[in-house]
Amino acid sequence: MYCPFCRHPDSRVVDSRTSDDGSSIRRRRQCPECGRRFSTTETASLSVIKRNGVIEPFSREKIVSGVRKACQGRPVTDTDLALLAQRVEESIRQGGASQVEANDIGLAILPPLRELDEVAYLRFASVYQGFDSLEDFEQAIDVLRSEHAAAASADANDETDSTPVARSTGAAS
Ligand SMILES: [Zn+2]
Repeated sequence: MYCPFCRHPDSRVVDSRTSDDGSSIRRRRQCPECGRRFSTTETASLSVIKRNGVIEPFSREKIVSGVRKACQGRPVTDTDLALLAQRVEESIRQGGASQVEANDIGLAILPPLRELDEVAYLRFASVYQGFDSLEDFEQAIDVLRSEHAAAASADANDETDSTPVARSTGAAS
């Protein structure tokens, strides 16, 4: 890359260091022309195409601040939010694309937020998915309820599964 001081089109790497979390590499470079030193940071690129077409770098902070609003008054800590943003970034990066749409980020936020706090999830989904009537809320709540019921009956099935086994052993003896 160009020397930022004299625009010389070449530079020499004098030192490379991987960051503690392994997500970036920092290089010290020296310009062979003017001799001055500068640093560059190399990260796996991930950018977000916003609804208005503007492209900006992916930012965990933006996810945290977006979700925090939905979590007001809820028992959600800063650590929870940081972990959620990390999970969102991981799931987005798993897709392998270097650019994603803002919409995809919203979609990636919904599942971990639902695990974290269902009220915050409903608030976030209502804004993100543009709920505009009570029916929209009812539908979303029905989905949550039916999944709670499914989880509860799965537990109940685990118990009933063991009962016939006990009975058949009883009948055999
Ligand atoms: Zn230079």
